[in-house]
Amino acid sequence: MSSLNNTLKIAILPGDGIGREVMPACLELIDAAVGQAGAPPLVFETHQAGAQYYAETGEALPAAALEACRTSDAILFGAMGWPDIRFPDGTEIIPQLDLRMEFGLFAGVRPIRWFPGLPKVLSDPRAEGIDFVLVREQTEGLFYARGRGEVLNDQEAYDTMQITRAGTERVTEFAFQLAAQRKRRGKPGTVTCVDKANVFSSMAFFRKVFDEIAAKHPELQKDYAYVDALALNMVKKPWTLDVLVTENMFGDILSDLAAGLIGGMGMAPSADIGDTHGLFQPAHGTAPDIAGKGVANPGAMFLSGAMMLDWLAVKHGDQRLADAAGLIEAAVEHTLSTKTAVPMEYGGSANCAEMTRSVIGALGAVR
Ligand code: ATP
Ligand code: MG
Repeated sequence: MSSLNNTLKIAILPGDGIGREVMPACLELIDAAVGQAGAPPLVFETHQAGAQYYAETGEALPAAALEACRTSDAILFGAMGWPDIRFPDGTEIIPQLDLRMEFGLFAGVRPIRWFPGLPKVLSDPRAEGIDFVLVREQTEGLFYARGRGEVLNDQEAYDTMQITRAGTERVTEFAFQLAAQRKRRGKPGTVTCVDKANVFSSMAFFRKVFDEIAAKHPELQKDYAYVDALALNMVKKPWTLDVLVTENMFGDILSDLAAGLIGGMGMAPSADIGDTHGLFQPAHGTAPDIAGKGVANPGAMFLSGAMMLDWLAVKHGDQRLADAAGLIEAAVEHTLSTKTAVPMEYGGSANCAEMTRSVIGALGAVR
């Protein structure tokens, strides 16, 4: 890899609730890791957006924030939304959906991996081998219905599922490329199409297009699962899964179930990837039940930061950014496996600040 010669600018959107708590912790960690890896510091440009900002200004995603996202090298996002703050039509203020549409962030990438120190939710010892990635289509599917649904005469209501050839091809191709990378690292190299092709025409079409893309990757395995059966197997034998690809709504539900396998939302990172832009955010939301107390587990935000550094490393051909990502992952694992700090989410006593101090402290130990 050659190395980067321009400074990278990152748009920072902390958002609401615990997003505002885990984001500063993550920026501190990224600075430390990038420094230790010998990469030039990243430039962070922070913007307010989200439900609270909407309550104060009448705007959820101001133009300046959107422009910063457009012109930055990556977007780092906390969480947005708040139970009591809604648009006049009663829907939630969730600008992350607008960002997905604006920048065509079609692939929602949610890695789920168990490592020592995480809760053992399943008693089967094979659960220590949980290591799969859910790829969720995020620009169409049942979420196409957002803002388009209709209630007829207070008697019936409809929402529409949209599956397009172009949308399915690009997300499926993304999943196969991801499986190929994983295969090079010793994983099975299997992509499972998760659908409900036995009931819905839209899902049968999704499977047909999946098959066409699979045919272009004869070196990889393909598999199919109905979403209900997959939900069962995700609990019964999740260690058999590799890469899953599915439509928007199924992916939304399955990614929370998947996070449950590693003890909850606090250690589940995610990336929203498009052709030109990448947004990185913890899979959890604003967690109103614990917000403001400083007790959130920053782990998912940290691992999302590492995903961002990895993505930037590939995009800019700079190994030092990949090294910084590796340091963050190793430091998180070291902290949990040595129980230097056990997050309150897992019954320990470490709050957000203590987790952050421990993980930053561990950077030196894992180099
Ligand atoms: P959204 O609609 O934005 O997904 P939500 O209401 O589903 O929000 P989440 O924020 O996803 O809520 O949280 C679900 C549960 O997991 C809550 O009980 C929350 O406290 C817990 N949780 C989420 N993130 C964390 C975290 N980082 N640390 C500890 N607990 C968390
Ligand atoms: Mg949720």
